[in-house]
Amino acid sequence: MFCFFGHAWDGCKCTKCYKTRDKQHAWDGCICLKCGKTRDEQHEWDGCICCKCGKDRHKLKPGICECEICGEKVPHSLDVEESTVDEVTGQGWDYLSNYTSHEIATYRYSRCRHCGYELDERIVERSFEVRP
Ligand SMILES: [Zn+2]
Ligand SMILES: [Zn+2]
Ligand SMILES: [Zn+2]
Ligand SMILES: [Zn+2]
Ligand SMILES: [Zn+2]
Repeated sequence: MFCFFGHAWDGCKCTKCYKTRDKQHAWDGCICLKCGKTRDEQHEWDGCICCKCGKDRHKLKPGICECEICGEKVPHSLDVEESTVDEVTGQGWDYLSNYTSHEIATYRYSRCRHCGYELDERIVERSFEVRP
């Protein structure tokens, strides 16, 4: 249903079509009771987590992904680099040679910007035959 003759706004929500607008929210702390929108104000902190919207305010210890305040482990901030190679030839995966069987592997190297944690993974994507 559309409101051709104008919406019937009740705060941020139209009572006829349920469309919402970014105006006159019914804020209960950080969350709007009517439309569920959240704002970065007046959170209700339970330790480091807002029990209304789920936002966290962990403070990282220097050089380690752990919260200074609550001691909880915080997910790493990973930078990821990937390269895909043909395991037989060591070339890029589209390189064709005389070999008859190829395994395509992706190397994924991740490093945490905050604590320096490193992860090296090798993911074999597929094998296939190349007929000479
Ligand atoms: Zn409406
Ligand atoms: Zn609202
Ligand atoms: Zn909140
Ligand atoms: Zn915390
Ligand atoms: Zn980390």
